[in-house]
Amino acid sequence: MSTLKHRLAVLHHRIHAAELAAERPLNSVKLLAVSKTQPATTILEAYCAGQRHFGENYLQEALAKQVQLSAFDIDWHFIGPIQSNKTRAIAEHFSWVHSVDRLKIAERLSEQRPEYLPPLNICLQVNISQEPSKSGIILDALPEMVAAVQSLRGICLRGVMAVPEPASDIVVQRIPFRQLFLAVKHLQHPELDTFSMGMSDDLEAAIYEGSTWVRVGTAVFGKRK
Ligand SMILES: *Cc1c(COP(=O)(O)O)cnc(C)c1O
Repeated sequence: MSTLKHRLAVLHHRIHAAELAAERPLNSVKLLAVSKTQPATTILEAYCAGQRHFGENYLQEALAKQVQLSAFDIDWHFIGPIQSNKTRAIAEHFSWVHSVDRLKIAERLSEQRPEYLPPLNICLQVNISQEPSKSGIILDALPEMVAAVQSLRGICLRGVMAVPEPASDIVVQRIPFRQLFLAVKHLQHPELDTFSMGMSDDLEAAIYEGSTWVRVGTAVFGKRK
């Protein structure tokens, strides 16, 4: 077995073990392979091992790889910071955006999503640990943002995404994930079914607290250069 295939198998095992430990249904958590900085050949190797959803942070890099991999049935997710002048290309070339952090960005994605494509799935990024250096809305702003974004055409508001402050203890890791999960449940919008939470080092904590997408780079592809 190749290293990548082996890493993917180990990761699926980790996800299943966490689903079991959290008493959640098997396969209720999906794997988004974060392929930033990885070449198209490496993405293809993961594709051949069965992976279909890939997450990218940098638009130009992602578009180049999409051209190289256009023959394959890949779902592309945008997970990086979004500048307004990039929204058109994002609206045209992705099926998910996890990192919407301003109403203006949601409005532009809505206007620019081509009519021949299904609605763009979006998540609102929440700065759950309230770190000044991180993007995302504050938790208190969530109800108002949800209300404003929900009525927009061309996009489908699916849920939230968060990158909490790193912590090594799983008990500590779980706190912000739980806080976000409860805040969304409190809104009582059952159509918000998506929690994009958890990366290589904290995916078990995120799965305990309701994650539905784990975004994993290092544990799939190895350390980034
Ligand atoms: C890079 C990145 C990841 C993956 O992080 P790893 O620690 O390599 O698993 C997940 N989410 C976002 C938003 C990222 O930028």
